[in-house]
Amino acid sequence: MAAQIIDGKLIASEIREDLKKEVLELKASGITPGLGVILVGEDPASRSYVSAKEKACDNLGLYSENVKLPAETTEEELLALVDTMNNNSKIDGILVQLPLPKHIDTDRVIMRIIPEKDVDGFHPQSIGKMIMGKDTFLPCTPHGIIKLLLHSNVKVEGANVVVVGRSNIVGKPVANLLLSKSEGGNATVTVCHSRTKNIAEITRRADILIAAIGKPEFITADMIKDGAVVIDVGVNRVDDSTKKRGYRLVGDVEYKAALEKASKITPVPGGVGPMTITMLMYNTVNSAKNRK
Ligand code: NAP
Repeated sequence: MAAQIIDGKLIASEIREDLKKEVLELKASGITPGLGVILVGEDPASRSYVSAKEKACDNLGLYSENVKLPAETTEEELLALVDTMNNNSKIDGILVQLPLPKHIDTDRVIMRIIPEKDVDGFHPQSIGKMIMGKDTFLPCTPHGIIKLLLHSNVKVEGANVVVVGRSNIVGKPVANLLLSKSEGGNATVTVCHSRTKNIAEITRRADILIAAIGKPEFITADMIKDGAVVIDVGVNRVDDSTKKRGYRLVGDVEYKAALEKASKITPVPGGVGPMTITMLMYNTVNSAKNRK
């Protein structure tokens, strides 16, 4: 039987409806949640992410400041802008779109954002608190994945979860949240990466398989256990002359074949992506509540 499709757009829109009410309440008490977004350079994917974030702010009635800087911007100039946003009382959250140009030290920039405004959840203090199970801003994509599982009634507790990918922004934090002693956690987690041996043997044991690799259709149907829940985080552009823009987006999972093996699956686009932006809005609204 074909898998049930986990509709990330729908789940994200439900969460945003709840957020809209919270924004109205905050506004009634004189606080408009604000997000500062910084983009350096002209990377087309980054530009489209940033414009989606601007749109999401507008739709929710959030205040946003969007600064687009040329690729030649120096690290010192970027740090100065972060400082300005750190000190701007209208801004509750700061997002520096990654990746940054190579001449800029990304870690230095992330660490410059004060933890109170770290709505991306990338600051070491936020990560440390997350690992300890303390209240903090959770990184948006991993948090969005947990929300997708919960909203789709997937039993995470006790499940064998395999995460393929160990990046700081997806693989490692999602593995950690799945391991946490909280709702959406308590799973038994295995993390695979480029040095993992016999990866298919491991992924075939997964009740829940999370692919965050960045390689188009890397996960083939034979790597998926019958009835598994598959979360495809990957967003890859592949050339497609039949499309007006010359490419199409595919995930890290061979979607059509996986539909016949999985019990539930996220599509690309329309799965994890809309949740990432929604959890950014969620963190920004929560930061504004802290200001209150
Ligand atoms: P990344 O930093 O490039 O990390 C990729 C991970 O995949 C690494 O840990 C790497 O292992 C592992 N990997 C690469 N080749 C592999 C192989 N052949 N076998 C097993 N593991 C392999 O990527 P990322 O930032 O985590 O992003 C992953 C994907 O998710 C990308 O397509 C990205 O565009 C997408 N993404 C989507 C969203 C969203 O909102 N939908 C958000 C973030 C990212 P090593 O550590 O050993 O190198």
